[in-house]
Amino acid sequence: MRATTLLNRLLPLPKATIRDVEIVDDRVRVAVRPQRHRMRCPHCDYSTRHRYDTRDVDSSWRHLDLGGRVCVLTLRRRRLRCPEHGVLAEAVDFARPGSGFTRDFEDLVVWLATKTDKSTVSVFCRITWRTVGAMCTRVAAEKLSPDRFTNLVDIGVDEISWRRHHKYLTLISDHDTGTIVWGTEGKSAAALDEFFTDTLPDGAAEQVAAVSMDLGPAYRKSVRAHAPQATICFDPFHVVKLATAALDDVRRRQWQLARTLSDKQIAKTYKGARWALLKNPENLTVKQESTLDALKRHGGALVRAYELKEALRAVFAGDLDADQVHTMLGRWCSWAQRCRIPQFVKVGRTIREHRDGILAAVTRGLANGRHEGLNNKVRLIIRRAYGFHSAENALAMVMLTCGPVTLDLPYHMGTHPHS
Ligand SMILES: [Zn+2]
Repeated sequence: MRATTLLNRLLPLPKATIRDVEIVDDRVRVAVRPQRHRMRCPHCDYSTRHRYDTRDVDSSWRHLDLGGRVCVLTLRRRRLRCPEHGVLAEAVDFARPGSGFTRDFEDLVVWLATKTDKSTVSVFCRITWRTVGAMCTRVAAEKLSPDRFTNLVDIGVDEISWRRHHKYLTLISDHDTGTIVWGTEGKSAAALDEFFTDTLPDGAAEQVAAVSMDLGPAYRKSVRAHAPQATICFDPFHVVKLATAALDDVRRRQWQLARTLSDKQIAKTYKGARWALLKNPENLTVKQESTLDALKRHGGALVRAYELKEALRAVFAGDLDADQVHTMLGRWCSWAQRCRIPQFVKVGRTIREHRDGILAAVTRGLANGRHEGLNNKVRLIIRRAYGFHSAENALAMVMLTCGPVTLDLPYHMGTHPHS
């Protein structure tokens, strides 16, 4: 069998035929030629038989490794003139427009990037991590169906920090499917406005029945403006977070106080107690448990603050109905109001002001933490995407991992187990 015949069978490239193969510098170089007579614009459906000129463009794409070696496809692309996009090199079926990699290679890399860590992907595929970001964006643009916006009823909007230095992303989740359906840069009302006005198809905003969110004013403002019929629900997760932040503030102040009084031993206790206080008791290590016991024996405002935080968490941790939560929350707020810890007096006031929205979240079943798994997954992926150079790339990876999408591996179409 001739080498080119063998390769034509091994690498079934759509609409291209292999004409030559050689090994140069340890790489397999496969020369291909297009089967089509018509040339297609890479950016639209336009096609033509007429070449613009004879100045073909030498192009190459990295393909799946062959026998463990890097494999590169080369092709002289003809030029055409698209009435809309001007003079361009023709599109090829085996690669996405603007990419130096074949579809199969990109599909493999992106599949891996959604499953495993950054260095595994880079080393295994022999590509830089930034390149992976651009691939995620191309694959996401192709695989995400616009249908994901048509039946949104209960949605959640959340901010997540992206890289350090206070950069944020706004993410929209569909509570019914437990997937992320959209995201953008920023965390202002304008970020959410973009979803309602530029992203949702006509009529979709009117169908939204409830939106869960944090207690800040930005997202609420946007929902009131674009989906006034929707019930605003304050996510109990964010309510508990207020108490956790207040507790940490109490601890930090006590630590600073002890330091200024040069009570080094006590200062150290407060510093070391951070996670013992903030973690859920069932997740504490043995050492953290004994730290917590020591603090409790010591008594004082920090212990009362801890008990307040735990009590608030308990309100939402059980399977209580809205009436029960209403009663418990009322009691908690009176307790907070009387506790003489300014941070918690403030939390109590905030909760009273937002009580209707908090109870709405309980009533609509948007409060049971069923998407905690999704949130954890998003955080993991965001950290993995730190090395990408644009928020667009990071968002694409979030969508490919947590969105309504199924990624296929090359040569395994429809046969691998979906996950
Ligand atoms: Zn075009």
